[in-house]
Amino acid sequence: MAFPYLEAVLGFMIFMYLFETYLDIRQHAALKLPNLPKPLEGVISREKFEKARAYSIDKSYFHFIHEAVTILMDTAILYFGLLPWFWKLSGNLVAYLGLDAENEIIHTLSFLAGVMIWSQITDLPFSLYSTFVIEARHGFNKQTIWLFFRDMFKGICLSILLGPPIVSAIIFIVQKGGPYLAIYLWAFMFVLSLVMMTLYPILIAPLFNKFTPLPDGELRKKIEKLAASLKFPLKKLFVVDGSTRSSHSNCKNEEEVVAVIAHELGHWKLNHTMYSFIAIQILTFLQFGGYTLVRNSKDLFESFGFDSQPILIGLIIFQHTVIPLQHLVNFGLNLVSRAFEFQADAFAKKLGYAKALRAGLIKLQEENLSAMNTDPWYSAYHYSHPPLVERLSAIEEADSKKEN
Ligand code: ZN
Repeated sequence: MAFPYLEAVLGFMIFMYLFETYLDIRQHAALKLPNLPKPLEGVISREKFEKARAYSIDKSYFHFIHEAVTILMDTAILYFGLLPWFWKLSGNLVAYLGLDAENEIIHTLSFLAGVMIWSQITDLPFSLYSTFVIEARHGFNKQTIWLFFRDMFKGICLSILLGPPIVSAIIFIVQKGGPYLAIYLWAFMFVLSLVMMTLYPILIAPLFNKFTPLPDGELRKKIEKLAASLKFPLKKLFVVDGSTRSSHSNCKNEEEVVAVIAHELGHWKLNHTMYSFIAIQILTFLQFGGYTLVRNSKDLFESFGFDSQPILIGLIIFQHTVIPLQHLVNFGLNLVSRAFEFQADAFAKKLGYAKALRAGLIKLQEENLSAMNTDPWYSAYHYSHPPLVERLSAIEEADSKKEN
C-alpha cells in the first residue's frame, strides 16, 4: 500500500494550526494583562502602555481570523484536489493560446501566473484591513490608498520581471540535473542570492523608499568614528525615508542611534551575519538533497492527485511534506538568533553604550507600541529577538557584576 502522503500532510497542518492557535491564545491572555511587567514599571509610561496594549490586542484578534481563513483555504485546496485541477486548467490555457502545452516551462509559468492572481486577490482584503483599519486606528498609517496600490503594482511588475527567468532556470537545471542535481540547484541559489544581495539595495529598495545620504554633522562623525574603531568597511551612509507610509519608529537622540548601530556592528564583528548565511546555505542544500531523493516518487504525486510528475509541483509537494522538520528548524534558528541578540547587546555595552542602548531599546518599543507583556511559551516559539524585559535585565545584570 502506498504511504498516505496527502493525509499525513493535512493531519500535520491541522495539528500545527491547533498548536499555534493555543500559543496565540496564551499570548492573547498576556496581552490583556492590565499592568506593565514589574521591570518596566516607571520605565514606560502608563499612557504608552495602554496604547501598546490596545494595538497588540487589535492585531491579535485580526491574526486569529487571518489564520483561520488561511488554514481553511489551504486544507480545502489540498483535500479537494485543486492543485491537479488547476495544473490541467493552466495547461489547457497554454494550448488555447496556441502555445506549446508540452513545454513544461511554459506550462509552469501559466500555472504560476494563476497562483499569483489568486494569492493577490485572497490577500488583498487582509492587507487593506490591516493597513487602513488597524494601523490607521492606532495612528501609524500615513499611506494613501493610491500609494498602497502603486506599491502593490510595483511588486507585481517586479515578480513578472524576475520570476519567469528564475523559474525557467530551476526547471532547466532539474531536467538536466542527473546525480549531482542537489549541488547544481544549491549553486544556482547561492549565486542568485549573491546577485540579489548586490542588486537589492541599488535597484529594488529605491523603488519603494527614498534613500538620501546622511548629511555631514555630529551624527555622521560619531558613526564613522565607531565604524573605523571596529575596522568596519563603511562606504556609504544613507537615511531611509519610510515615513511616507508608516510612522512606526524613530526619533531618537544621536547617542541612542549610535548605540543601536553599535549593536548592529556587533552582529557583524561577532560573525553572526556570516553564521546565519552559512546556516541558510546548509539548509538549502539539505532541502534540495531531500527533494532529489523523492522527486521521482510516483506515490507522492499520485497521493496529491497528479498522474504526471511536473517539476514545480514536485517542489511544492516536497515543501509540504517537510513542514514538520521546517517548524523544528525554525524553532532552533530562533533560539540561536535570540542568543545572538544578547551577544550584540553585550558588545554594544562593552563599547560603553549600555545606557544609550537601553534608552534606545525602550524608545523603539514605545514608538512601535510593541507588546509589553509576553507569554514565555509564545515568545520562545516565535520571537527572533528576546522580549524587552529580558534584554534590559541582561544589560543591567552584567552592569551590577562589574560593580561588585
Ligand atoms: Zn540585533
